[in-house]
Amino acid sequence: MYDYNIFIQGFPGKSSTHGGLGWSTVTLLSRNDQHIIIDVGSFGVRPLLLDKLEARGLSPSDISMVLLTHTHWDHCVNWTMFPNATIVVGQVDMDWAINEPPGGWHVPELYVKELNSSPQIRLVNDSEEIVPGIVAHQTKGHSPGHLAYTVDNGDYDLIFSGDAAKNRAELLSRNVDMTLDLSESQHSIEYLWSLWKKRENSILVPGHDIPLKLVNGEPVYVHEREADLQYWFSDTLEDYTTIELAEESKLAKQSK
Ligand SMILES: [Zn+2]
Repeated sequence: MYDYNIFIQGFPGKSSTHGGLGWSTVTLLSRNDQHIIIDVGSFGVRPLLLDKLEARGLSPSDISMVLLTHTHWDHCVNWTMFPNATIVVGQVDMDWAINEPPGGWHVPELYVKELNSSPQIRLVNDSEEIVPGIVAHQTKGHSPGHLAYTVDNGDYDLIFSGDAAKNRAELLSRNVDMTLDLSESQHSIEYLWSLWKKRENSILVPGHDIPLKLVNGEPVYVHEREADLQYWFSDTLEDYTTIELAEESKLAKQSK
């Protein structure tokens, strides 16, 4: 059994004036002294990641493995924080990412180039078992070699969908925002549903939303959302405004 901790909650939103927020999910899986991080977020979360690790008595050097769902900037750049980790990434996604022309919107070209030649990299393929109980699943569309991961956690599975299903709305509507191939994305969402329905009580962790469980076939949140914006429109730093970006109406009754 892995103990799972959502270090950074994914947020299902973007800005019409400032583009993608890149607020993606970062999760720590721990079993005994084995610590795995699934997706590592972007630069802005580095201090938070260090705080969260420290709170558990860990440092970046204690992480033995990083599983990347795909090579987009908001999920992968912080692989450089973990010097002792094997960095797992899809072979197909890496082949695509390193051949993308520089200056595109999704791939952090220098970070993927460095990763591709790093001794830390481990390239994996569809259906590959990475460590006992953790399996990669090719779920293309959002990116050409995107991987979801399933974790056999005893009585239930944890399913990390990455951006194959970024949020609850995409899972429910079977429609997606930001994909390179809509029909591939829709196939991937159907596939994720089949993984999710396989075992009762399985928890799906989207790339940009909080974990969900099926209750009477309906996806409901199993954590409370924490998201806010703080800003200064004032004359002093002490006087700032906080906007909460949370709503609780779709939360499951404390069932964890
Ligand atoms: Zn992405």
